Amino acid sequence: YEESPTTTMQRSRRLEAKMKEWEESEEGQKMMTIRRNLPSFKEKAGLLEVIAKNQVVVISGETGCGKTTQLPQYILEAEIEAGRGGSCNIICTQPRRISAVSVAERVASERGEVIGETIGYQVRLEGIRSRNTRLLFCTTGILLRRLLTDPSLKGVTHVIVDEIHERGMNEDFLLVILKELLPQRPDLRLVLMSATLNAELFSKYFSKAPTAHIPGFTYPVKSHFLEDVLDLTGYRLNQFNQVDDYGQDKLWKMQKQLAARKRKSPVAALAEEAMASQAYNDRSAGTRESLSCWNSDILNFNLIQATLLHICKQAREGAVLVFMTGWEDISALLDKLKQDPVLGDSRKKLIFEHPPPGVRKIVLATNMAETSITINDVVFVVDVGKAKETSYDALNNTPCLLPTWISKASSRQRRGRAGRVKPGECYHLYPKAVHEAFAEYQLPELLRTPLHSLCLQIKSLQLGDVAMFLSKAMQPPENLAVKNALEYLTTIGALDEQQELTDLGRILALLPVEPRLGKMLIMGSIFRCLDPVLTIAAGLAARDPFIMPMDKRNLADQAKYDFAGREASDHIGLVRAFEGWEAAMSNQVASSYCWKNFLSMQTLLGMSSLRKQFIGLLTTAGLITDDLGFFNRYSQDPVVLRAVICSGLFPGVASVMKKQKSVLYKTIEDGQVLLSASSVNSRDFNPKNPWLMYSEKIKMSSVMVRDSTCISDSTLLLFGGKLIDGHAPGHILMQGSYLEFFMKVDVANTVMRLRQEMDKLILRKLANPSMDIYTEN
Ligand code: ADP
Ligand code: MG
Repeated sequence: YEESPTTTMQRSRRLEAKMKEWEESEEGQKMMTIRRNLPSFKEKAGLLEVIAKNQVVVISGETGCGKTTQLPQYILEAEIEAGRGGSCNIICTQPRRISAVSVAERVASERGEVIGETIGYQVRLEGIRSRNTRLLFCTTGILLRRLLTDPSLKGVTHVIVDEIHERGMNEDFLLVILKELLPQRPDLRLVLMSATLNAELFSKYFSKAPTAHIPGFTYPVKSHFLEDVLDLTGYRLNQFNQVDDYGQDKLWKMQKQLAARKRKSPVAALAEEAMASQAYNDRSAGTRESLSCWNSDILNFNLIQATLLHICKQAREGAVLVFMTGWEDISALLDKLKQDPVLGDSRKKLIFEHPPPGVRKIVLATNMAETSITINDVVFVVDVGKAKETSYDALNNTPCLLPTWISKASSRQRRGRAGRVKPGECYHLYPKAVHEAFAEYQLPELLRTPLHSLCLQIKSLQLGDVAMFLSKAMQPPENLAVKNALEYLTTIGALDEQQELTDLGRILALLPVEPRLGKMLIMGSIFRCLDPVLTIAAGLAARDPFIMPMDKRNLADQAKYDFAGREASDHIGLVRAFEGWEAAMSNQVASSYCWKNFLSMQTLLGMSSLRKQFIGLLTTAGLITDDLGFFNRYSQDPVVLRAVICSGLFPGVASVMKKQKSVLYKTIEDGQVLLSASSVNSRDFNPKNPWLMYSEKIKMSSVMVRDSTCISDSTLLLFGGKLIDGHAPGHILMQGSYLEFFMKVDVANTVMRLRQEMDKLILRKLANPSMDIYTEN
């Protein structure tokens, strides 16, 4: 859309007049006072100057100082004042949908506007913007998608990439692309914003781009490491024989042995162990394992309790924020604290409220509270030093989720939370020497995740050789990780042997979900069993709607089993639960339905809206039309549904073998997996369905799979693996020597022919969406 210069100029004038009018109004003045009190305001002139003079600028400043809401506005205001309001086009990316939306709303209201005028937002399949929009908040994914059709970002004057300190994969990826784009677009300005002081790293990446720091208004925070905490609380770490409610004694016994062996105090032993595990923060996943045995044990709940009691004895007012490893630890500690007469009274909803006099507010949180949420009255922080971190073990091609030591940057961030209102105190429940051994920063996501979605995107953006492209990242991933991803994409049929996108790959790249979910959706459309597949994909893309309360575990497991047990499929269980909920919704009994079946209403609602989004995407891709009845013709057919599940989840398949009493599950890479106890398949063994398709395997203390579906030999033969591979379909499976897959030769040949016929049909269908494969053959 090109505008005539007059319109642009008229608009510039209109914007300027509107801004002046708002700033002079009573409400506008109130808002301006609030805005002027933010730390970023003092820096406004300097920031604008450095941005005007340089193509790339890196800005850092504490959470809450006014980066996200103010900086894009400063740029907008400067442009308006310079008479360029009508032509400027500012894009500010956010890692999460929710922040893109809420920040846009906030900024619009700070300017006395409705959303969708000068200020707009765009997130996946949802956006409010117009041709008047000059400042757009969007997710990083949206900007990446725009680059697909508009590689030079025509008309964009400023790109602001926010929250770069998180080192998210999308952000790191975007920076590689922008770095290449900048020389071609000398007029484009790039601003990077970070909540921690790691600006140097980014500055170096952009050939020493200037950095600017917004000084925060935090008060000093006193740090106590474990040694001090023990002194202050009188808690004795070497009370090994004291039995802890949560089995922590195991750890302390171990520590005692370690200390005895080394003839050192337990604190020194702990420090030594941490130093030895330095490699942990490097790339080797192998070393991680050695630590995992005491990772969760290190959380000594008694020590936390003693620290909290010590804080409560102090006269100083102020809330306490406790950083824990994960939800399990939080609820275990909560149970323990509830029994303490001094500490016990738990109320979830009051987290942002000020407590009545004489009451001390204690907030138990995960690392989410480091930067994402701000609780204003925190004066004391208790930091256990661990967080659950995802990582990727390229050697075994397995994503991992393990508690790990945090970085120095996180520890600093946690401590900083104590100094927002007055001088604070931070109790680090680990020795100072352990802190010294922490890595400076957390590893970027690019090095911690499987890369198949990213590689698919690189292919569809035509950025050349994938490995070559990724080698230009700030911290490039291992070659093995790239190789694994490309192999995966070839196996599922998204890339051909020459590593070029296939028709399937091209459509997969349009769907903003994991390739396996995308493939399931595509196959569900082709085989006309759309509805259940929408539910499964929504359930796997969002959170699990099944709630597993600690104290009612058995009841909850049973409720889930009632849905899914007979089908030997967690995925089909999800479909049944969702269908039941939809029926309950229309009868207005949804809450009691959720309550009875241990389901989360909120997650189900989220799934419902995701399903609608998927329908939109599949329609855009030309795979379905409005006639949903047509695409649900085989939705009730369990054979078809299982086939589609198999096709989507392959190569996520394990063979099920009964060995005496126990059942063994072996994956295609010859690894062994355990079924999560929450899976309905963990109860029975069904010899008729010897294969188990799983959505995801993840390494925790052992390699686990959560949701799975049992399928038969023939389903796997016909639907597992890539489309047309020139081999007998069993061949891929036979590569591993472990998978015993005996077939008569003539049967194998028949199956192979059938398979090739069908694969050809699917390929034709993908190239020609309006075709119906059922009537064709
Ligand atoms: P940063 O990006 O540096 O972390 P923000 O620009 O997000 O900071 O926020 C600046 C200030 O504006 C914060 O102190 C915050 O409390 C306030 N603020 C942000 N969003 C809202 C909102 N929706 N309503 C009221 N205040 C807000
Ligand atoms: Mg921010």
